Amino acid sequence: MADGSWYDADIDHVIISETQIRDKTAELAKQVSADHADVPDGLLLVCILKGAAMFMADFARAIGRHGPPVELDFMAISSYGQGTTSSGVVRILKDLDRDIAGRHVIVVEDIVDSGLTLSWLLRYLESRSAASVEVVALFRKPEAVKVPVPVKYVGFDIPTEFVVGYGLDFAERYREVPYVGVLKPEVYARS
Ligand code: 5GP
Ligand code: MG
Ligand code: MG
Repeated sequence: MADGSWYDADIDHVIISETQIRDKTAELAKQVSADHADVPDGLLLVCILKGAAMFMADFARAIGRHGPPVELDFMAISSYGQGTTSSGVVRILKDLDRDIAGRHVIVVEDIVDSGLTLSWLLRYLESRSAASVEVVALFRKPEAVKVPVPVKYVGFDIPTEFVVGYGLDFAERYREVPYVGVLKPEVYARS
């Protein structure tokens, strides 16, 4: 293969660079660590698969540099309904491995758009008697501002555009792209 990656030809423009993501992740981890320096049994990070997988890996290591001990757990959920807008009706594909009663939980999310998925998830986690539930989301779109979903830690506010990379997919592809960008229109025409 020639220099560069196969996906470079498909990306129209970069929205957030690899360096920006790295710096912001360190900053978010510092804030979360400072706010939770004294949690007795550490934080439970709950990654929402698959989109938040990259962020989880980097965020957990960044917390490790200054913060309290963490445990990692993973959930996979899927919104019922067609198309690109979530309905708010959610199905659990993979549940938490362990009981979260009494734990201080940080939900690690890739991006908050309508906020419907997240608001369902917060109710679910609270019903399982966590001591506290907070959210860190790397990206947020303007729509999310309209929903009363408390996202305590936000990395970047981005425009209302469909983005891929750093865990975010289009038809399961582009998750490995190390930055976040917008696809060329012809990529959609191809599929
Ligand atoms: P909502 O907040 O609308 O319930 O859904 C948010 C979920 O939809 C995110 O966690 C993410 O998986 C997906 N999503 C929202 N916006 C985008 C986007 O621009 N690109 C990609 N690839 N996924 C998105
Ligand atoms: Mg997500
Ligand atoms: Mg997706």
